[in-house]
Amino acid sequence: MNNSMVDQFVQGVVDRNPAEFEFHQAVREFAESVIPFMAEHPSYRSEHIMERLTEPDRIVIFRVCWENDAGEICCNRAWRVQFNNAIGPYKGGLRFHPNVTQSVLKFLGFEQVFKNALTGLPMGGAKGGSNFNPKGRSSREVMRFCQSMMIELSRHIGEDTDVPAGDIGVGEREISYLFGQYKRLKNRFNGVLTGKGLAYGGSPIRMEATGYGLIYFVQNMLEAFGGSLTGKRVTVSGSGNVALFASEKLIESGAILLTLSDSGGSIFDPAGIDHEKLEWIKTLKLGHRGRIGEYVERYPEARYLEGAKPWSIACDLALPCATQNEIDEDDARALVGNGVHLVAEGANMPTGPAALAIFRENDVLFAPGKAANAGGVTVSGLEQSQNAIRMPWSRQEIDSRLRRIMSDIHAQCVEYGDGQQGQVDYVKGANIAGFVRVADAMIAYGIA
Ligand code: NDP
Repeated sequence: MNNSMVDQFVQGVVDRNPAEFEFHQAVREFAESVIPFMAEHPSYRSEHIMERLTEPDRIVIFRVCWENDAGEICCNRAWRVQFNNAIGPYKGGLRFHPNVTQSVLKFLGFEQVFKNALTGLPMGGAKGGSNFNPKGRSSREVMRFCQSMMIELSRHIGEDTDVPAGDIGVGEREISYLFGQYKRLKNRFNGVLTGKGLAYGGSPIRMEATGYGLIYFVQNMLEAFGGSLTGKRVTVSGSGNVALFASEKLIESGAILLTLSDSGGSIFDPAGIDHEKLEWIKTLKLGHRGRIGEYVERYPEARYLEGAKPWSIACDLALPCATQNEIDEDDARALVGNGVHLVAEGANMPTGPAALAIFRENDVLFAPGKAANAGGVTVSGLEQSQNAIRMPWSRQEIDSRLRRIMSDIHAQCVEYGDGQQGQVDYVKGANIAGFVRVADAMIAYGIA
């Protein structure tokens, strides 16, 4: 009965949003948890809340023209998907990547609504970005692109309306160009963007927050079963913001970090990537925008798996921190075959539906990104608070708030995520806890 209700609902979403495959995938995963819950709580059904939740408040699509270093005119497409502001101003990152489409941004915006709700902070959900590829572009080109993009974006955002942040391809450099242009256009210095530099309204730990928060969440999961990170062998994918700071916290917690990757391939260091090696990688990736494969030239005992993901390497824990759908069915089988017992998503929706089913069948503890990677938006929310009161908080203050909020999110997953044989179903728990908070607010507003 529940399955046919889910299929029927998702079919409606597919019909209304043709060819938006990533969006369909995110809605299905959410509906599989929430529709059975609604069957036990019929008031949500009579409010048609799922139909309302899966329709974004609005999507702004615009052209961004800019001039490259050769003096040629370039043209990209950009979007801002303002998904839902029931519990606070829209909030969510901007992504610059050639594979950005409306479907990708809708899936990310949809997930963001419930992730933000889980933090307990007053933030609605949004996502935006462009198919602009910053790779291989000079800083001046990136600056001109960001400035041109902000000319249009500035009409749609504001500290009480919509507060963008970074995501793939958008770090502190891009946020600074965007914020500088907003300030010029509006003559206002406020918390309209998060992820700013520390000297101009940024928050301590914003850069580290998603990675640190992921590890705090994993520690909560392990502690619930009397375990810890000490001595655990961990594979991590990606080598961007999330992956690198998750790695830092992993090493600090006594885990053995075996892999990192980028879109060119993966590195596997059987001796473990320690603090010193990680610092070298940070300089390579964050400082020089180099390729992860260069690691084996510096540390020849490691191996470079060209064009491969790290999921064939035996590990206890796997943390996908690169991009969506990076663990498919074969990857999941390889991980399970090698004895993985916990997978936590640092990236957004890195696990495909067939892979998730395999983890479930094999009792692998699984934390969805909605819960596990909420640390980034948590500290973004704290950056907004500091901007609003015009008072910076210390690193220790932010870190302890981050730890507390990640532990609250874990507790909500446990509360709503009763799984089989007393296990916690974190996907179900995160989806239902986020849903209840947003849906209750929407119902309180009446029909809107
Ligand atoms: P970055 O741009 O800093 O790093 C992304 C990393 O993933 C890079 O190593 C990149 O490799 C790799 N990557 C990107 N696309 C692909 C691909 N198609 N195939 C293989 N590798 C790929 O991004 P973030 O670390 O900020 O974000 C990573 C993930 O975490 C995303 O899913 C993002 O939405 C999510 N996230 C980020 C948050 C944040 O605070 N930054 C907050 C919550 C979630 P290369 O350098 O070769 O492109």
